[in-house]
Amino acid sequence: MIPIIDFVIKILYSQSIISIMELKVDGVCFSYGSDPILKGVGLDLGRREIMGILGPNGSGKTTMLKCINRILSPSQGRMMIDSEDILGMKAKDIAKVMGYVPQNSTGDYTAPTVYEVVMMGRRPHSVGWQSSVNDDRVVWESLRELGVDVLASRPFNRLSSGQTQRVLMARALAQEAGILLLDEPTSNLDIRYQMEVMDTVRDLAKVKGVGVCAVMHDIDMALRYCDKVVMLDSGSITAAGEASEVLTPENIMETYGVRVTIDRNYGRPHVIIL
Ligand code: ADP
Repeated sequence: MIPIIDFVIKILYSQSIISIMELKVDGVCFSYGSDPILKGVGLDLGRREIMGILGPNGSGKTTMLKCINRILSPSQGRMMIDSEDILGMKAKDIAKVMGYVPQNSTGDYTAPTVYEVVMMGRRPHSVGWQSSVNDDRVVWESLRELGVDVLASRPFNRLSSGQTQRVLMARALAQEAGILLLDEPTSNLDIRYQMEVMDTVRDLAKVKGVGVCAVMHDIDMALRYCDKVVMLDSGSITAAGEASEVLTPENIMETYGVRVTIDRNYGRPHVIIL
């Protein structure tokens, strides 16, 4: 079944090619100075999967995404995209396969309009500085996908934080990367856009085959959207696996020190703080 789905997706997206990839991270260590922040963390992100990275503030979630994206260099460990070692890849090649949306980005972007910011996502694919008709098409598709096409001509630095978040997601989408790393993708969004952004993320994973690794705080959202969850505490993984198996009252108590119950009476499970 899966190879047939793969084949269909490749045909459907033969115009805007998104390579379907797997990410494997193993034994990654990172320190800021002499402070060990990540102590041998790993994860396995399969095709079409959404993985949530959860854990208390300061547990190392952002640092882990930055190591995977090579913004930071781990001191130990292995990180592979399919059979390619991320540590041996050039920045431009990493940007072709991984899109990264940082947390609360105020937009350190010099491009004046929303359209141009999203067009920056095409740079890893371009030869020289000239953008092509295909680049323009991909940018508009990405803008529409995130519902920000109406903002295309607006100055980027005058958007609300929720709009900024969605534009940066569109920019990552325009990269046509097979793996998306999202740092708190819904943190500045109202409830409607939280759902819309996560529905888009789910479509990207399930329809286009993108693998998504997202730092999340909202346990209900993680239960609703994530296939897998990794729980981090003080730079170590305390639990990993299927979302519903990891997000248990026992694990939540152990990691966050909060007593909860999981209510399964209304369709999807959700967390009630006791
Ligand atoms: P999380 O995303 O789980 O909130 P972070 O990965 O942002 O955690 O941070 C993990 C730890 O690393 C925290 O103790 C934080 O203070 C520290 N840290 C983050 N960035 C830096 C930095 N640039 N220099 C020194 N320490 C940092």
